[in-house]
Amino acid sequence: MASSDMIPGPTAYFEGQYVPIEDAKVSIMTHAFNYGTGLFEGIRGYYCDQDDKILIFRLREHVDRLVRNFNIMCMEIPETAEQLEEICVNLTAQSGFREDVYIRPICYKSQLSLGPQVKGVESSFCCYVIKLGDYVDVVKGLDVAVASWRRLADNAIPSRAKCTGSYINSALASTEARQAGFDEAIVLREDGTVAEGSAMNIFMVTGGVLVTTPPTADILVGITRNTVMELAEAELGLRVVERPIARTELYVCDEVFFCGTGAQIAPVRSIDRRIVGGGSPGPVSKQLQDLYFSVVHGRAPKYREWCTPAG
Ligand code: PMP
Repeated sequence: MASSDMIPGPTAYFEGQYVPIEDAKVSIMTHAFNYGTGLFEGIRGYYCDQDDKILIFRLREHVDRLVRNFNIMCMEIPETAEQLEEICVNLTAQSGFREDVYIRPICYKSQLSLGPQVKGVESSFCCYVIKLGDYVDVVKGLDVAVASWRRLADNAIPSRAKCTGSYINSALASTEARQAGFDEAIVLREDGTVAEGSAMNIFMVTGGVLVTTPPTADILVGITRNTVMELAEAELGLRVVERPIARTELYVCDEVFFCGTGAQIAPVRSIDRRIVGGGSPGPVSKQLQDLYFSVVHGRAPKYREWCTPAG
């Protein structure tokens, strides 16, 4: 049987086993379902026709971030970090997909119990793989708005933890923007400075320097953000600065773009109906986007170690 005719294999890992996604179900009494006490990752796999394989981008870094965040949520699971990587690879390979995918590992408080604690509540790991193309437009430039919803403070629900419950904040901001006819939202901190997008980090180009908000700005310290910073310095010789950004700096800078696993590198063409730079994706955004796409598709030998082949 040709591989394209094959019935896709299990696309979920649940309670220690590989199962079809429809069999991966939790009880309504699950702690994480009641209190949002889960930690998750979003990882992309890019189909590479040359190798006829999916290349998983920066798998190690995603698993490392997840496992480090266990400490915030007092989580312990039987699987080791190496096993978590293995599960992501196996699920992707077994899925039979021959297109770009998205891998969603979740570590969640699986105990069937009441009470909003984190300590002493059992945790489990599950994971699934789905097909995923572009999540936001990456070509034309996005029309975005500053949300009226503020980013959660690190001392309330830490964005860095990537907790399931904290995505209410992202959902409210993004929904508000979309309902008002925009593509996406920029979210400010309680002090009025910029944090990030609803589920993506933000960069601006000003005076030839690439600027992004620091890890202390209530952001998720994105793996794509780190990738962009590294590529910008190493390949484009750009100076990269992490510092607080005022909302109005975004109106007067040369270029703005979002980045994230889902968003990839998505140029912004207007903010609050004000044209940014020239109103179309700027040269730095475009160069970084080209570089990024070549790296994630395994076409840049120097960065090939960031791509884990599935299968
Ligand atoms: N910020 C938030 C709030 C996000 O949800 C994401 C997506 N995971 C990002 C930033 C980008 O992070 P990464 O590049 O690691 O996907």
